[in-house]
Amino acid sequence: MAELAPTYRGRFAPSPTGPLHMGSLVAALASFLDARHHQGTWLVRIDDIDPPREQAGAARLILDSLQQHGLYWNETILWQSTRTAAYQQALTKLEAAGLLFHCDCTRATLGANGSCNGRCEPRQSSVSAPRALRVMVPPDTRIKFIDGIQGSCKYDLGNTIHDFVVQRKDKLPAYQLAAAVDDTHQKITHVVRGADLLDSTPRQLYLMDKLGSTSPHYAHIPVLLGNDGQKLSKQNHAPALAADKASVNLREALGFLNQPSPPQAAKTVTAIVDFAIRHWSIDRVLMADDTP
Ligand SMILES: [Zn+2]
Repeated sequence: MAELAPTYRGRFAPSPTGPLHMGSLVAALASFLDARHHQGTWLVRIDDIDPPREQAGAARLILDSLQQHGLYWNETILWQSTRTAAYQQALTKLEAAGLLFHCDCTRATLGANGSCNGRCEPRQSSVSAPRALRVMVPPDTRIKFIDGIQGSCKYDLGNTIHDFVVQRKDKLPAYQLAAAVDDTHQKITHVVRGADLLDSTPRQLYLMDKLGSTSPHYAHIPVLLGNDGQKLSKQNHAPALAADKASVNLREALGFLNQPSPPQAAKTVTAIVDFAIRHWSIDRVLMADDTP
């Protein structure tokens, strides 16, 4: 009997704070190509858990733009705004394990790395509203993983982060919690994303471990910088991608990922994407000098 290959499941999880730009196209494309090259499933999840930061209509613009660039997803889109009960369940589980505490720190009272360094933990009865929920990270907590691009990554989480927010003061789930819960829920096996999220990975691995979940493999691609040397982002108004330049955009993104150039005969988006799937190699994506 033929052995079944382990099922590859990847995902792209944009937050709807603005349209897709070249930086986010590079991340989406890398994740898509890695999944498709491995005959895997590629999911799109909309990280819409932070309404104050969202831009009306941005999710639709992102989805349209992905399709214009030939990046078609499998299965139904998961909207994180529909997942409140699952995040609450995870918090209940962490609470039952004695890992949560309330925190009313303000920016002024927080220590390095946004940690409250044991300030709130001993004074639970006097913590006042509005208060956040933090997960305890014992000082000896070390997280190690092998990144598909960055190589061996080691984090002294207990001494650098110590504790981190899992539910914000406004009762919204923190990104770290939502990402960990949903990667588990969607049975994601491979996360390919920008190196700007590399520092989040040990926190998500820590939460997955505490929630009893299997963690995916990670690969963090270099972050694309603009001409000013700043990360391209919605915050610094990176331009939205033009739909009529999809082929050009794809070629540029492939160049940045150090992948072979599709032949000039590949004129359509489909032809470029098909070529890129066949020739994809994550080993060609070079580490950038500017990784955090
Ligand atoms: Zn605190």
